[in-house]
Parts: sequence; structure tokens; C-alpha cells
Amino acid sequence: MLIDTHCHLDFAQFSEDRSAVIRRAEDAGVGYFVNIGATLDSSAASCELAAQYPEIYASVGVHPHDADGFKEEDLAKIKELAVKDKVVAIGEIGLDYFRNLSSPENQERLFASLIEVAKDMSLPLVVHTRQAEEQTLKILKAAMPLRAVVHCFSGDENFLKECLALGFFISFTCNITYKKAQALRDMVESTPLDKLMLETDAPYLSPEGFRGKRNEPAQIKLLAEEVSRIKGISFEEVAERTTENAKLFFKLK
Ligand SMILES: [Zn+2]
Repeated sequence: MLIDTHCHLDFAQFSEDRSAVIRRAEDAGVGYFVNIGATLDSSAASCELAAQYPEIYASVGVHPHDADGFKEEDLAKIKELAVKDKVVAIGEIGLDYFRNLSSPENQERLFASLIEVAKDMSLPLVVHTRQAEEQTLKILKAAMPLRAVVHCFSGDENFLKECLALGFFISFTCNITYKKAQALRDMVESTPLDKLMLETDAPYLSPEGFRGKRNEPAQIKLLAEEVSRIKGISFEEVAERTTENAKLFFKLK
């Protein structure tokens, strides 16, 4: 069994054929999905999906891209959602200095306040960080102890070491299959198997051979195959270990 620990099945890209997408993933061996909130609305939608489908769990949070539009009263709404049944994490939250769609100050403020929500609720974090590794670590370190996964890992060896030293999990997407992604494959090699999780980030980041098309959780099979090649272990071992990690991290029953 595989677990897609980060997907956005609530997004409009799936509104025509959501049930078929979920069925295809299950046929490909996906046993659970963690649907990740990116805005207040998508966090609510994530909870609705979790209520509707037994195999879907929800994470609630607001992406750094939306930090500028985040209002004080929205925090109460996130807290309301966070106590709902099957909410297993706060995220995705973090910093994105690559696209800088919101000001760094607002991103940092939002990140810090949502970390506090996670701590109050004893939930782990799903962290998004892009070209903001140093500041991300600074904010996370100030809030330790924390449980966190760094999603769609894109950092270097040093950032990986720092994250592992804090006990964080690392999750990789299908972008490790891209021809030019040798640096990312090196990071997969350096990540111990007991800290590694798999995610599609669907509808984004379709694997090599499918680039430019909508991604979907069934494609996680190709990701697991790539990890098995990189680590020189069987597909079954990748599936077993990453599933164990995801169950432990998100406390899936
Ligand atoms: Zn995402």
C-alpha cells in the first residue's frame, strides 16, 4: 500500500472526475490520501472530502502565497476547522521567496501564527518552503519542539541535514523523476528511509513523460519506483517503509 501524503483533490482541476481519480489511485495501490488545504476555502473543502471519503484525511492551513489576504479573524476559522474529525495536520504553511506573491513580512507572521495553532492542537506541520530555507529554519527552531514534514523538498544537503537534525520528515514529489533533477535524486539518497514520505502534490508536478498534464495520485507509483531505483531497494520496501512513516506522522488509523 502507498499513501499520497500531499494532494489537492479539492481543486477545480478534479471537479469533473474526482471519484474516478480516487478510484484509479486505489487501483494503483493508494490506501490513504492526505488532502492539503492551501486557503481557508480549500481547507474547508479538504475537511468536506475527509467527511465524504473514508480513505481521505485532511490538513488545514493557508499557503504563504495568500499571506497578504489573511485577516485576523481568519485565524479563528482555521482553528474551527483544525478540531474537525480527520484533520491530521496544519498545512501547507511556510515561506515562498521564489514567487513572493505575498510580502515576506506577512508570510513570516502567518507562518508563525499557524505554527502556534498546530502546537495548541498538538498537530504536526506540513511545511512549504522555497528559496527561504534560512528564514524557515529560524522560525521553526524558535518554535521547537515541533513535528513537521518538509513537503516537496527542494533544498540542498545542508538544509536536509538541518531538517533531519530537528527530527523532521522529508517528502518528495514526482519532480525527482525529471531528467535534470539529479540534485534532487541525491537528496533522496541522503534521506534515511525512516524519515522519507511520498506525495504527488496533484494536480501539480506530473512525472517525467507526463509533464504539462494534470497530475493525479495514481502516479505516486512512478515516484515509488524512482525511489526504489535511487535507494537500490525493492518497490515493496519503499511502499512499506513510507506507509509506516506516514501512518506514524499523521497518526492515521
Ligand atoms: Zn501542495
